[in-house]
Amino acid sequence: MEVEEMLETYYERIGEIPGSEKFIQCIQCGTCGGSCPYGMGTLFTPRRMILAVRAGMVKEVLDSGAQWLCTSCFTCSLRCPSQIPITDAIIPALRELSLLEGNPPEELAAALMNIARYGNSFRESPRKRDKWTKEVDFEVPVMAKKKSADVLFITECFGAYHRRCKEITKAFAKVMHLLGVDFAILGNEERCIGDLARLSGEFGLFEDLAEKNIRVFEKYEFNKIVTHDAHAYNALIREYPKFGFEKETLHHTQFLYQNLAKLKEMFGKLDYTVTYHDSCYVGRRNGIYEEPREVIRAIPGVKFVEMKRIRENALCCGGGGGGVWLDSFIKEHIKERPAESRVKEAAAVGADVLVTACTLDVPMFEDALKVTGLEGELEVKDIAELVLEALES
Ligand code: SF4
Ligand code: SF4
Repeated sequence: MEVEEMLETYYERIGEIPGSEKFIQCIQCGTCGGSCPYGMGTLFTPRRMILAVRAGMVKEVLDSGAQWLCTSCFTCSLRCPSQIPITDAIIPALRELSLLEGNPPEELAAALMNIARYGNSFRESPRKRDKWTKEVDFEVPVMAKKKSADVLFITECFGAYHRRCKEITKAFAKVMHLLGVDFAILGNEERCIGDLARLSGEFGLFEDLAEKNIRVFEKYEFNKIVTHDAHAYNALIREYPKFGFEKETLHHTQFLYQNLAKLKEMFGKLDYTVTYHDSCYVGRRNGIYEEPREVIRAIPGVKFVEMKRIRENALCCGGGGGGVWLDSFIKEHIKERPAESRVKEAAAVGADVLVTACTLDVPMFEDALKVTGLEGELEVKDIAELVLEALES
């Protein structure tokens, strides 16, 4: 593609994303670069990306690979004084150009291809999506048979297929089972919700997934969706309404908080010092800070300690925005990955358990424990796993 055409495609795309007209209001203050966990490892911070695109140097940005170093942590967007949608528009639209040029990092290209072909990034058969339900000691109802339920539980791809994340899915399903919640899953009919594809610049794939998923939702009767996947939650509340989806969607931290009175009656005692990681798309992007903390504090015997960087200033795990598929690429560019810094922060405040609330966090942090030598000293658990442990103790 010639530069002129690239710029035209770019401006056309950001023109479709609400708030992108603020692109011209960038005052080059540098807050974004100063806030970015990859600010030191890139030639083009968001400030410099904007400057370069304005100057027609879009090829230089793409050739640097800077567009792939963003984990969509949303810190720059939240802090930008001109409220430019850097995370939702400026960077994904550059990524789209990179995809059109055919030069995205290999791991990411493979993941996107798998989502398009199989409906999940794992290259797994959709028929295996509910395999985890055979590994639990209670029945998990499937919508195709049940037809209606109060809660539709969306497991998402990591929650359905990833070896470690499946444990979170099983734990949260068991919590709902113990609470007597009327829930069901889509099983083989579920496919990727698509937030990571959107943030990776695959806008067409995201639209296709959203339309197909909404058609499946419309086949059944339910009152709300609950999901433990922070990106699925984000897409369902922020993006799917653009395609006509109107059902209430709760993140599992909100759902646990809503059921806290009943949970408190059932909790046994644990003996942990616990800290909580505010996942980007639970905390900073969607403002859920208190609910998970209230749930953790309500567990008898748990001592809750805070890390230094919390709430809107929390450090990202590095998995968002396609980062979970870009590990080798990211390792080439920075000395210490954000997940490694984060587990060190958790250990520094004396925590035995780092509690998370996004399925991507657990594998990212468990890998970081190995790299930093903190394995055995610090454990990583999703909040659903902690709650289930308290219910079963
Ligand atoms: S923080 Fe916003 S206004 Fe400041 S340089 Fe970055 S994009 Fe521009
Ligand atoms: S979203 Fe996060 S990782 Fe991406 S450019 Fe902004 S601060 Fe950096």
